[in-house]
Amino acid sequence: MYLHGTSKINEHGRLEIGGVDTLELAQRFGTPLYVVDEALVRRRCKEYMDAFRASGVSFDVSYASKAFCVKAMCRLVEEEGLSLDVVSDGELYTALEAGFPAERIHFHGNNKTAEELAMGLDARIGFFVVDNFIEMHLLNELAKERGVRTNVLLRITPGVEAHTHEYISTGQEDVKFGFDLGNGSAMKAVRDALEATQLDLIGIHSHIGSQIFEVEGFRVAAEKVADFAADVRRETGAEFRVVNLGGGFGIRYVEGDKPLMVADYVKAITDAVKERFTSHGLQVPEIWIEPGRSIVGDAGTTLYTIGTVKEIPGIRKYVAVDGGMTDNPRPALYDAKYEAALANRANEEAEEVVSIAGKACESGDMLIWDLALPRVRHGDILAVFCTGAYNYSMASNYNRIRRPAVVFAKDGKAELVVRRETYEDLVSNDVVPERLRKMSVVK
Ligand SMILES: *Cc1c(COP(=O)(O)O)cnc(C)c1O
Repeated sequence: MYLHGTSKINEHGRLEIGGVDTLELAQRFGTPLYVVDEALVRRRCKEYMDAFRASGVSFDVSYASKAFCVKAMCRLVEEEGLSLDVVSDGELYTALEAGFPAERIHFHGNNKTAEELAMGLDARIGFFVVDNFIEMHLLNELAKERGVRTNVLLRITPGVEAHTHEYISTGQEDVKFGFDLGNGSAMKAVRDALEATQLDLIGIHSHIGSQIFEVEGFRVAAEKVADFAADVRRETGAEFRVVNLGGGFGIRYVEGDKPLMVADYVKAITDAVKERFTSHGLQVPEIWIEPGRSIVGDAGTTLYTIGTVKEIPGIRKYVAVDGGMTDNPRPALYDAKYEAALANRANEEAEEVVSIAGKACESGDMLIWDLALPRVRHGDILAVFCTGAYNYSMASNYNRIRRPAVVFAKDGKAELVVRRETYEDLVSNDVVPERLRKMSVVK
């Protein structure tokens, strides 16, 4: 079993997270249950902050809240000194409700609606990362109506695309995000932003992908951004105060995943930016990044109760859990891989190879293929690791399955941060038109 963060096997032979016995968690809060190792989230935040402090540059680390956006998480990253990325009105609302300082909120997205832009302006958020010309125009007009100015960064497509292990430098224009560097649209965007009466253009933004295990793509992106900054200064006289190189730092889901240390990514990025800007005779800008997955991914564990078993002799043993694609759609969506163990019999030897099925009505609702476990029994607790990012935030109510609760575990205490959905929650938005109502009294 891959034990990390505060996870360990306790004297009862059970998995413990944050000093809390996972069997007790399952009994107290029910399953499926997302358990977040709070100390590990805080450690990841600190790793980024410390690495930047060591680099000597001005910096900002913004948590990409789409990975896991709930109020308690917003509080936690604020305490750790991070800023916050949002990509929708719902994420913005969550952050504001959590009391996250508006001036540290960055608004992203390729199709922010007028309502979303207005909501951001009215909340006086710190930054809009402008993705396209329509948005730029709309934002400027909305700001004018309000008599305010706002800071913007321009999202550019740097011509580097990360495919987790490799980077291709052709065809990269073919994405829905941002202003293209190669075809001149990024330069036009800079000119328009400089002319826009209500927008203060402070920098440039690039995000090359996700679950990246190498520094090469970030280095190339940093260089392209620096080269562009040099072109911009030559053509317009303007200099960027900020360069934001996005997120995408990989984490270990399964054996064989080899992420770098946080400090290695940060050093590669800060070195590349410093070198290339300096070589162009430009001021070294502030360097901003936006980790999501690597802040919260490996701190999350999902606990399930094992239910039914279907054995097809000579072929496969399916072991079903009380959740699945509704709480973790990543295996079905991206063929994502996870490791798991029996939480209640954590030090027993593996004896059989089984495949973990969810309970939704889809053959594709499989969480893990070919997992070695002790001989499983009905009622065992299965712990699936590294489910902190893009699990709760992507969960659905398919089959009207209620979304699980989330707890933070730390120093022997577990606290609820999202309560389990209720049956009432499930039907709370349903409306039955008068003509379809069941007559309770027939006269
Ligand atoms: C998704 C996203 C991130 C975070 O990506 P991770 O892979 O979770 O680190 C950062 N910036 C932008 C613009 C994103 O879209």
